[in-house]
Amino acid sequence: MTEITKEGKRGTEVIKEQYQLFINGEYKDSSNGDRFEVVNPATGEILTSVAKGTRDDADSAVQAAKTAFESGKWPRQTAAKRARLLNKIAELMRKQFEQLVEAEVLNTGKTVAAAQGQIMQAIQDFEYYAGAITSFGGKTNPMPNGFFNYTLKEPVGVCAQIIPWNYPLMMAAWKVAPALAAGCTVVLKPASYTPITAYMLADICKEAGVPDGVVNVLTGSGADIGSYLTDHPDVDKVAFTGETETGKDIMSRASQTLKRVTLELGGKSPNLVFDDCDIDNAVDGSLFGIFYNSGQSCEARSRLFVQEDIYDEFMEKFLDKAAKLKVGDPFNEKTHMGAVISKSHEKVIDDYVQLAKEEGGEILFGGKRPEGEEYNNGFWYEPTIIGGVTNDMRISQEEVFGPVVVVMKFKDEKEALKLANDTKFGLGSAVWTKDHAKATRVAAGIKAGIVMVNNHISAFPGSPFGGYKQSGFGRELSLETLDLYMETKSVVSYT
Ligand code: NAD
Repeated sequence: MTEITKEGKRGTEVIKEQYQLFINGEYKDSSNGDRFEVVNPATGEILTSVAKGTRDDADSAVQAAKTAFESGKWPRQTAAKRARLLNKIAELMRKQFEQLVEAEVLNTGKTVAAAQGQIMQAIQDFEYYAGAITSFGGKTNPMPNGFFNYTLKEPVGVCAQIIPWNYPLMMAAWKVAPALAAGCTVVLKPASYTPITAYMLADICKEAGVPDGVVNVLTGSGADIGSYLTDHPDVDKVAFTGETETGKDIMSRASQTLKRVTLELGGKSPNLVFDDCDIDNAVDGSLFGIFYNSGQSCEARSRLFVQEDIYDEFMEKFLDKAAKLKVGDPFNEKTHMGAVISKSHEKVIDDYVQLAKEEGGEILFGGKRPEGEEYNNGFWYEPTIIGGVTNDMRISQEEVFGPVVVVMKFKDEKEALKLANDTKFGLGSAVWTKDHAKATRVAAGIKAGIVMVNNHISAFPGSPFGGYKQSGFGRELSLETLDLYMETKSVVSYT
């Protein structure tokens, strides 16, 4: 039994020596026997080896999902029965909570606290959709005399669900739970860095009694099997979370078969601190907004705008608290920020910091890999705060996806909104002010899918999550998501 104690010690490892593909309820090696290694980002050690699926394997997974869908063994179950299974999955996840947390921490290098929050939310997602689906359906519409019209909600079919590495199990839950609730069948493709909890979810689905072929988990290269799934004529929908550039490729490929597509993509979210805010709250929320999950969050508030008359006071507190953030062993309860996902990602982050310097930015804090024995192995970056920038610089416009924030001043509400919206992205945003009317005006003016007002948490089951502009389209975590896994059939009869 896993134990994560206050001192950060853990008990037996929960990671298997190797993982196989999960197709049609069975575990199999890839068709050509290829495997790849998965690493613990906090230590650089190899954790396990995972089957590297081929296009043949992807095809088998799609055929399994198609057969399960067409046999009706999932879509034609009553919503109540599907809800019971979703609740069963959630119950088994609750029982394995500590193991899931341990696996996620080992596989991502994120802190225990972050993993706990994300895995609890993944559980709640299954519970939320179990409840939501039982009252989700069509409606009747007003018609001319003699006509009667009602709509039916029917599952879209086979869904390829392609997810990133930053919140592995939570992203899997955001995808799998609504698809199953709607009656769809699924081929889930986790990111190659972080496949472990997706396979634990496959085990849980099997144990819960999800019929064979309804959930399939397939690991392998995104460019190879991810794009193959996107092209596949028997896949009815692609639900993708990842980089904006990958999203564009998926959208263009999916157009060939006119698949349904939802895209949850990148961001460069603004964080607006007005002079009438509670400064201490705004400081804490702004630190969380960028450094949570080592900045590897799609809605990381990576552009911090502070009203000019409180800039000095705010920045003094912000820098002071940033200096107190402890980076290090993710299993240590005192750690605020864990590792970053890979050596190559550490370099991407550092390249952006060097670029910011070339562009004229001033490193106010951090700006390098932390020093000390603790960081000899693994992949690390300091919380980094950059001033002296303008909003048109690349460092202010491109997603770093690491613990790097740029700070700028603004004069008034009008300028704040102009700066906030001057980006190709539109995912998250935050507003700090005690003036309710101002908060409402600014929330209305921001072109982003999520606005946090005096708050740093963006995602709750029931609250739609998704982007404007090049942050994608479609919404997760909500009733709107169920709609996106369904077709609407309109039945018009004349009596
Ligand atoms: P990525 O686009 O590199 O990879 C995401 C997934 O797509 C992986 O499973 C990968 O194997 C697969 N993939 C890669 N190329 C593909 C292709 N050509 N066709 C099909 N699949 C392909 O993204 P990442 O680096 O894993 O994740 C980080 C990105 O995810 C960031 O941009 C972040 O903002 C975004 N993200 C968005 C949200 C959101 O809700 N909007 C949430 C989390 C992460």
